[in-house]
Amino acid sequence: MKVRTRIAPSPTGFPHVGTAYIALFNLCFARQHGGEFILRIEDTDQLRSTPESEKMILDSLRWLGIEWSEGPDVGGPHAPYRQSERMHIYKQYALELVEKGHAFYCFATAEELDQMRAEQQARGETPKYDGRGLKLSQEEVQRRLAAGEPHVIRMKVPEEGICKVNDLLRGEVDIPWAQVDMQILLKTDGLPTYHLANVVDDHLMQITHVFRGEEWLPSAPKHQLLYQYFGWDMPQLCHMPLLRNPDKSKLSKRKNPTSINYYRDIGVLPEALLNYLGRMGWSMPDEREVFTLQDMMDNFDIHRVSLGGPVFDVDKLNWLNGQWIKGLSPVQLLERILTWQNDSKKLEEIATAIQPRINLLSEAVNWAGFYFNHMPNITAEMFESKKLNQEQVRQSLQFAIWRLEKTFTWNNDTVSQILMDLANQMGIKLRDFMPAFFIAIAGSTSSTPVMQAMVTIGPDLTYARLRRALEIVGGPSKKELKVWEKLNESIQLPKNEATETSE
Ligand code: GLU
Repeated sequence: MKVRTRIAPSPTGFPHVGTAYIALFNLCFARQHGGEFILRIEDTDQLRSTPESEKMILDSLRWLGIEWSEGPDVGGPHAPYRQSERMHIYKQYALELVEKGHAFYCFATAEELDQMRAEQQARGETPKYDGRGLKLSQEEVQRRLAAGEPHVIRMKVPEEGICKVNDLLRGEVDIPWAQVDMQILLKTDGLPTYHLANVVDDHLMQITHVFRGEEWLPSAPKHQLLYQYFGWDMPQLCHMPLLRNPDKSKLSKRKNPTSINYYRDIGVLPEALLNYLGRMGWSMPDEREVFTLQDMMDNFDIHRVSLGGPVFDVDKLNWLNGQWIKGLSPVQLLERILTWQNDSKKLEEIATAIQPRINLLSEAVNWAGFYFNHMPNITAEMFESKKLNQEQVRQSLQFAIWRLEKTFTWNNDTVSQILMDLANQMGIKLRDFMPAFFIAIAGSTSSTPVMQAMVTIGPDLTYARLRRALEIVGGPSKKELKVWEKLNESIQLPKNEATETSE
């Protein structure tokens, strides 16, 4: 049997380094066995999935040098490779399970389920679907279906006993069935959930090995059961250790930038980032630190993956990048520098911004420097303001980060609107509010217009610089964080509602 692995990203945000890490291991395993590595887009969450995100994910994986032989952009024998284009496929499989008695209809409304959970919590139990749909008689189900009542299809799950899941790295893993919910397979709108679509597609696309993040291990019993219900062979599962922050918490953008674009924009070479991801829990047999993708594929052995949470440490990545840079000839380095930010749209925006400010071309260096820098040189004193107290400065930065992170459309209108609304809601004049942002982004209060600069440098670098500024002036303590979160929300509400909630 030919080995077939896949990466199945959901296009709901910026391209995450974790996606590249999992893609890399899937790719190496497939190549080592002379198999295929494919890419499938899992966009069943239609509210959160966007074509922009899909494009960024594909572009950034390609930038890294990860190639797939089948996918939404290259086609292949199992096309389409985008789940939103396969929606007609899944329903029949859910119905097949109902027919075989492995799944059932449930008509419970959201309110009923909320009440069920509240009662369970009041009894000190962990909230869980209580199997109420299973208690309906055949006649009642038929009557309610005929009446067109909204419903979902859920899978049956044993109430007791242990599910034994085989994991390539962990061996047999025991998960009590009591911890597994009767998963919804088909939603009220007739569309599949991740679990159904994922299992059906892995089967139809003849996937033999699934390398995915450890966070999916608790879902493995549901998937295994679905394979049994359908009577299909299950791919071999392998849950990769999660990438961690240096403090060992799960890698999160609050502590470390996680977008591949961020690393590209600060000048990490794709080979170095891939090399670094290859070292996350894995090492070359000779323990050498600098290696290429080809070296990794040639020497790949999944059993060399260690389960201790690998730490994604930006300082180490920078060091490794330095090794790669030193390995280039001066001409190659020059070529890399010249192509690194060679984005005509970005360069034109910078030219537009500096044009009114320069008399000599040589002055462009000072005015434009901060667009290309990693971080500006800043100190806490620079944020001292005659008009704002320190708490206002800290809050303005934190609230801006929270609000900007929520927007997926990154342009002058959205960014300016967020900042102007925030200043307004905090009762601060824009001219007193903005200096902290100039310093955070440009390192000085006299720079090109900062809102446009944030648009030009992009969301990833903007978040990173704002976060760094907040760290320098003093990020919120755990206690403050809770109060600030509420405050940030309450000032966003219309005035009368805001007073009502704060009373
Ligand atoms: N769509 C899932 C994700 O975004 C895929 C998980 C899996 O590999 O099964 O992580």
